[in-house]
Amino acid sequence: MELRLEEIRHAYGQTEVLDGISLDVPSGQILCLIGPSGCGKSTLLRIAGGLERPVSGRVVQVGEPEGSSLNPLTYIFQDFALLPWRSVAGNVALVLEDHGLSRAEIAEITEDVLTRTGLIDFREAFPKSLSGGMKQRVAIARALAVKPAVWLMDEPLSALDAQTRELLMDDLVGLWTRAPFTAIYVTHNLAEAVRLGHRIAVLSRRPGRVREIVEVRTPLEARRTADPQLEAHQRRLWSLIRDEAKAADRELIGG
Ligand code: ADP
Ligand code: MG
Repeated sequence: MELRLEEIRHAYGQTEVLDGISLDVPSGQILCLIGPSGCGKSTLLRIAGGLERPVSGRVVQVGEPEGSSLNPLTYIFQDFALLPWRSVAGNVALVLEDHGLSRAEIAEITEDVLTRTGLIDFREAFPKSLSGGMKQRVAIARALAVKPAVWLMDEPLSALDAQTRELLMDDLVGLWTRAPFTAIYVTHNLAEAVRLGHRIAVLSRRPGRVREIVEVRTPLEARRTADPQLEAHQRRLWSLIRDEAKAADRELIGG
């Protein structure tokens, strides 16, 4: 399924947050969203997922989600949002309940997604015994279980250390390569953006506007750190972000 954001405007009271954002997320592509803090990235993601209504503009779903999708628009957040009193398998099974599936079907899907995310040996573990990286893998497994048509990811790796972020990026590339998914991936980490984005939309400071869309043509599975082309993209993104962040910073200090 393809997602189209058309001329999205949003404000909280007098504060204009988004100023006419139009973005296309083609089926099977990852669109990264970067921009200075407070420019409206999370707001845009909530609007994309229907959690918030924009002041004007619309979100259009083009094409049908895959027939077996239980939750077409699925979020993954920075803080994992796992239930501490449920095991790894229990956290995954939770999202499969109330969909009229049999216990056997729930067990089969849970087993499948835990295998795909390397968690099968941890199925009985509880979140408190897991590292941050493992917790986020559980959140990814839980999202896989409902077969999202579009993944809405809000800085999913920000709470993790650098090595764990690398491992999780490898995981996401592996999952995408085996079964390409459609996603909006918000990050403030430029290395993540050039590793995971087919296109990277750079937003301006608040009120957020699309400043530029950078297309990265290297296939996801062929992207390596220290690739001169990716580094060039990263430098370009940095120059755009730096200007916007500086301006945002001056505005704040200037009151
Ligand atoms: P980002 O994710 O890019 O850091 P957000 O979308 O979280 O930005 O926020 C954009 C702006 O909107 C910020 O100035 C923030 O303080 C404000 N904001 C976000 N959510 C609300 C809300 N529910 N009520 C009022 N203001 C909000
Ligand atoms: Mg945010």
